[in-house]
Amino acid sequence: MLTATPHAADLLAKPVADFTATCDATLARAKAAITELKALPAGNDAKVLALYDEVTSLMGNMGARAGLAKEVHPDDAFREACETCEQQLEAYNVELSLDRGLYDALSKVDQKSLDPIGAFWLFKTLREFRRAGVDRDEATRAKVKSLNEELVKIGQAFGRNIRDDVRSVTVDAHELDGLPSDWLAAHPAKDGKITVTTNTPDYLPVMIYAKSGNVREQLWRAYRTRAFPQNVEVLNSLLAKRHELATLLGYETWAAYVTETKMVKSAKAAADFIERGRVATEARAKADMDQLLARKKKDVPGATSVEPWEHQFYEDRVKAESYGLDSQALRSYFEYGNVKQGVMDITATLFGVRYVKVTDAKTWHADVETWEIFDEGFSPAAPAAKTAQLLGRIHLDMHPREGKYKHAAQFGLTVGRASKELPEAVLVCNFPRPGELLQHSDVETFFHEFGHLLHEIFAGRQPWAGVSGIRTEWDFVEVPSMLLQEWPLDGAALKTFSKHHLTGAAIPDALVEQLKRAKEFGVGVDTRRQFFLSAVSLAFHDRKPGFDTAEVLKETQEKFLPIRREWSSGTHFELGFGHLDGYSAIYYTYQWSTVIAKDLLTQFRAGGMLDGKIATQYRKKVLEPGGSREAGALVQDFLGRPYSFDAFQQWLDGK
Ligand SMILES: [Zn+2]
Repeated sequence: MLTATPHAADLLAKPVADFTATCDATLARAKAAITELKALPAGNDAKVLALYDEVTSLMGNMGARAGLAKEVHPDDAFREACETCEQQLEAYNVELSLDRGLYDALSKVDQKSLDPIGAFWLFKTLREFRRAGVDRDEATRAKVKSLNEELVKIGQAFGRNIRDDVRSVTVDAHELDGLPSDWLAAHPAKDGKITVTTNTPDYLPVMIYAKSGNVREQLWRAYRTRAFPQNVEVLNSLLAKRHELATLLGYETWAAYVTETKMVKSAKAAADFIERGRVATEARAKADMDQLLARKKKDVPGATSVEPWEHQFYEDRVKAESYGLDSQALRSYFEYGNVKQGVMDITATLFGVRYVKVTDAKTWHADVETWEIFDEGFSPAAPAAKTAQLLGRIHLDMHPREGKYKHAAQFGLTVGRASKELPEAVLVCNFPRPGELLQHSDVETFFHEFGHLLHEIFAGRQPWAGVSGIRTEWDFVEVPSMLLQEWPLDGAALKTFSKHHLTGAAIPDALVEQLKRAKEFGVGVDTRRQFFLSAVSLAFHDRKPGFDTAEVLKETQEKFLPIRREWSSGTHFELGFGHLDGYSAIYYTYQWSTVIAKDLLTQFRAGGMLDGKIATQYRKKVLEPGGSREAGALVQDFLGRPYSFDAFQQWLDGK
């Protein structure tokens, strides 16, 4: 019987004391289940797995609820309680990962008696235990634990040093000619001087609009010396401790350790992929740079190169002058309510689902909308069939408010389990309100995040929590979202929901064409830069530490010419490259997902972007299996062949 109620969101509508009590009770129940599991005599495989699955579900769901509410709950005390709960869960998770008795009990389960999904789940589970060092002697386990604790602290220091080191340059007011008037109004001159900082709201407009190359160069250099010299030692010790941990666990390098559980599987394959991307982007990046240089020559006759601090400035000039995209005109077609309706209508048609609004749902804020997703064919007039066709619940928390998370992201709330629990997931965004207009990039973000949301719901019907929902390889996670993000660039799809906010007219074809052409400019440089950053992230982790990180950055940039946007003599981009903490060696993952998404897109392009048959195949073969099989096998099932690099290359070549 499905436990359709109570819903997870209900908990976030209750007083904070209830939340804390639930967190405590969840931990107590998980601990009791583990004690019970370890005490079972041999020959109780089914019970061992059921108890471990229950603990996985309890810990995962409680963590998801705390993780979401900490970012969105309007009450400070509630958010604090979430952080406390998260810390307690994390401490117990670490304890579990090193619990030899638990590992031994799971190891004794007869894998041959399991179905393929159960066997895959157990294989992944035992591998995670070994990767945590559970099967090592006590001294090694203690060392692993202390290295992990140190790494958390070093990673935090690395990020903190970047955040805290805000630099600034003070320039003559006239040197900021070119900046928008609202920006200038917010930066009044003192004694004819204006100070600009390396924070994004200053940095980006100055790099894009300031006519003075001198100001841009000064600010570019300031930005690339953030956290210098503080992070020199921090980065060196981050790399050294990671290497120590990886080699202690039997891996050659940290890169080998961290790629093992990804689609890419090895550091060598990651390096090959990055090299392939380097070659693939060469021609397009060169063409982009030639266009930037040609534009620069109008200002500086005889110029022979585009300096790093000139990229964004000339890119914007080319976009405005050569492609003439009027972003003001464009946004008139994207009123929030129409866009939301468009996302829901298009995904309903594609995936064969129906969204039904829940009007009496309890959540954490009055802004939040709750919807149930049914298989199509469900009729509210015949609710008897409801349980069979109900796929899950989604919550949309879409507009900014004080104290709320500032970006756009999808959060899980309940990991579904077949015949036990329904999946529940949340979109958290910061879009304008109904009646107001979105930028086209917001529309893309909406589709992107909705791709994650549907993946979570469709995949949320696996038998075990450990393989249900988005429990797939990290380098596959962005595929469903990158793919769905292609719809707001398709003319036919755009026309289904883009209405002029005053006249109601559909978006003109000419504007769609302008949008597409403007989007295409700069793809070579941007993509090559992403591969360059991927190469830096890998290069820092696939060798013995003790090298000069600035030197490796410089060498890597030379391989990725003609782009040279991050390093110049005296700068230290690597010390401010915050993703080295979260991504470590695997910054390549986003490009990897893009390659697969571009390949999947060929099927939709061939059969029609609004064709339900293809999308349903994709839902059944790629999204619904979730983490129950390797992602590469799912993609092969859908495509009828292994995925390839060809569609990505064609996109780069402008075909
Ligand atoms: Zn994403």
